[in-house]
Amino acid sequence: MLYRTMPKTGDELSILGFGCMRLPGGALRPDEAESIKQIRSAIDRGVNYVDTAWPYHGGKSEVILGKALKGGYRQKVKLADKLPQWLCKSREDMDYYLDAQLERLDDSVIDYYLIHAVDGPTWKKIEGLGVIDFLEKAKADGKIIHAGFSFHGVRDDFKAIVDAYDWDFCQIQFNILDEHNQAGVEGLQYAASKDIGVIIMEPLRGGVLAGKQPREVQKIYDAAPTKRSNAEWALRWIWNHPGIVTVLSGMNNEQHIAENIRIASDAEIGSLTSQETDTVRQAAETFRTVMKVPCTGCQYCMPCPKNINIPLVFSIYNSKHLYGKGLTSKIHYLGFNGGLQGKKPGLASQCVGCGLCVKHCPQQIDVPVHMQSVRKEFEGPMTKPLLFLLGKAISMGGRKNKKANVQ
Ligand code: SF4
Ligand code: SF4
Repeated sequence: MLYRTMPKTGDELSILGFGCMRLPGGALRPDEAESIKQIRSAIDRGVNYVDTAWPYHGGKSEVILGKALKGGYRQKVKLADKLPQWLCKSREDMDYYLDAQLERLDDSVIDYYLIHAVDGPTWKKIEGLGVIDFLEKAKADGKIIHAGFSFHGVRDDFKAIVDAYDWDFCQIQFNILDEHNQAGVEGLQYAASKDIGVIIMEPLRGGVLAGKQPREVQKIYDAAPTKRSNAEWALRWIWNHPGIVTVLSGMNNEQHIAENIRIASDAEIGSLTSQETDTVRQAAETFRTVMKVPCTGCQYCMPCPKNINIPLVFSIYNSKHLYGKGLTSKIHYLGFNGGLQGKKPGLASQCVGCGLCVKHCPQQIDVPVHMQSVRKEFEGPMTKPLLFLLGKAISMGGRKNKKANVQ
């Protein structure tokens, strides 16, 4: 494992951090035992920065991470957590959430504490409520050690927030598709020029850059003289940049953890050749032309009052356009969102355009507009008959499974 120095704090942090946003076992029911095993195994192999937040896994991520850090593991890592600024209506709320987080973590101090997911308007709001006083007091009380913020907004607002306080660090979304989105490479360089250590989130855009790539993108990687997995290309490209301290990966699979740790053992700054950066640039440019919705699957938009699983709907919609599997995508869409197996339906046509999701989306995706497109492509006069047939198929499978279980 390579380590890089956090400029203001002097901490030597592993270039790969463990993000506890996508633990094994699913969004609301993470598998505690498996999560603890994976977190500890990563720490045993050199990871020393672990990150969680109030909303991850419906509040269970902080609790699980706290448990994983028992037995001497807490002393081996720097622990990062985040203030849910959108829930704070007053200065007192900030104290309340920090104390509740320490309780969930069963800890007395958070090493790296961030104001979670700010942009220009939310920064103004939280600054007005006294967040700087809160951070100073929390540091003086020994509840947090270093202060930072995570950002999803536009570049000029990022620079203004960087200049608004003596931050130790910040966290930005950065990957081969987002080189110039949000804070982007310009924001990264701006923060680094002020000695603010930069942590990277969404390095693989919720896994999209690691899995099967669209045919046109895969051709570009396959033609490169250096043979690497798609995830390795994407991660090495990030670590190639100066100014970045740690890249957070939301890992939940032993094989991926092992691969990421292997890559993090020699991904030095400036280690890619110009031919290799060119390969990544071409792959990213091609990817952007085929992706319909820039959704990362972060789930900040959930729950939808109309029961639409927004990230799942977009994931299926993107798959159709990225991989050209029209019928399979339609069946997946209806199967997962059509209210089968006793679930409530959550089809795109149920969207009433309330805009609740848009307010929380860090990617500023106009969800209702895309829902209209999804409806046009996946729904129509055949929706009801198809749902009926799918329901039949599923219940037949259920009986077969039951029989098999009895035997
Ligand atoms: S705009 Fe549509 S998708 Fe978004 S929360 Fe409202 S109903 Fe749900
Ligand atoms: S629509 Fe936005 S908030 Fe919802 S999962 Fe996608 S990126 Fe996240």
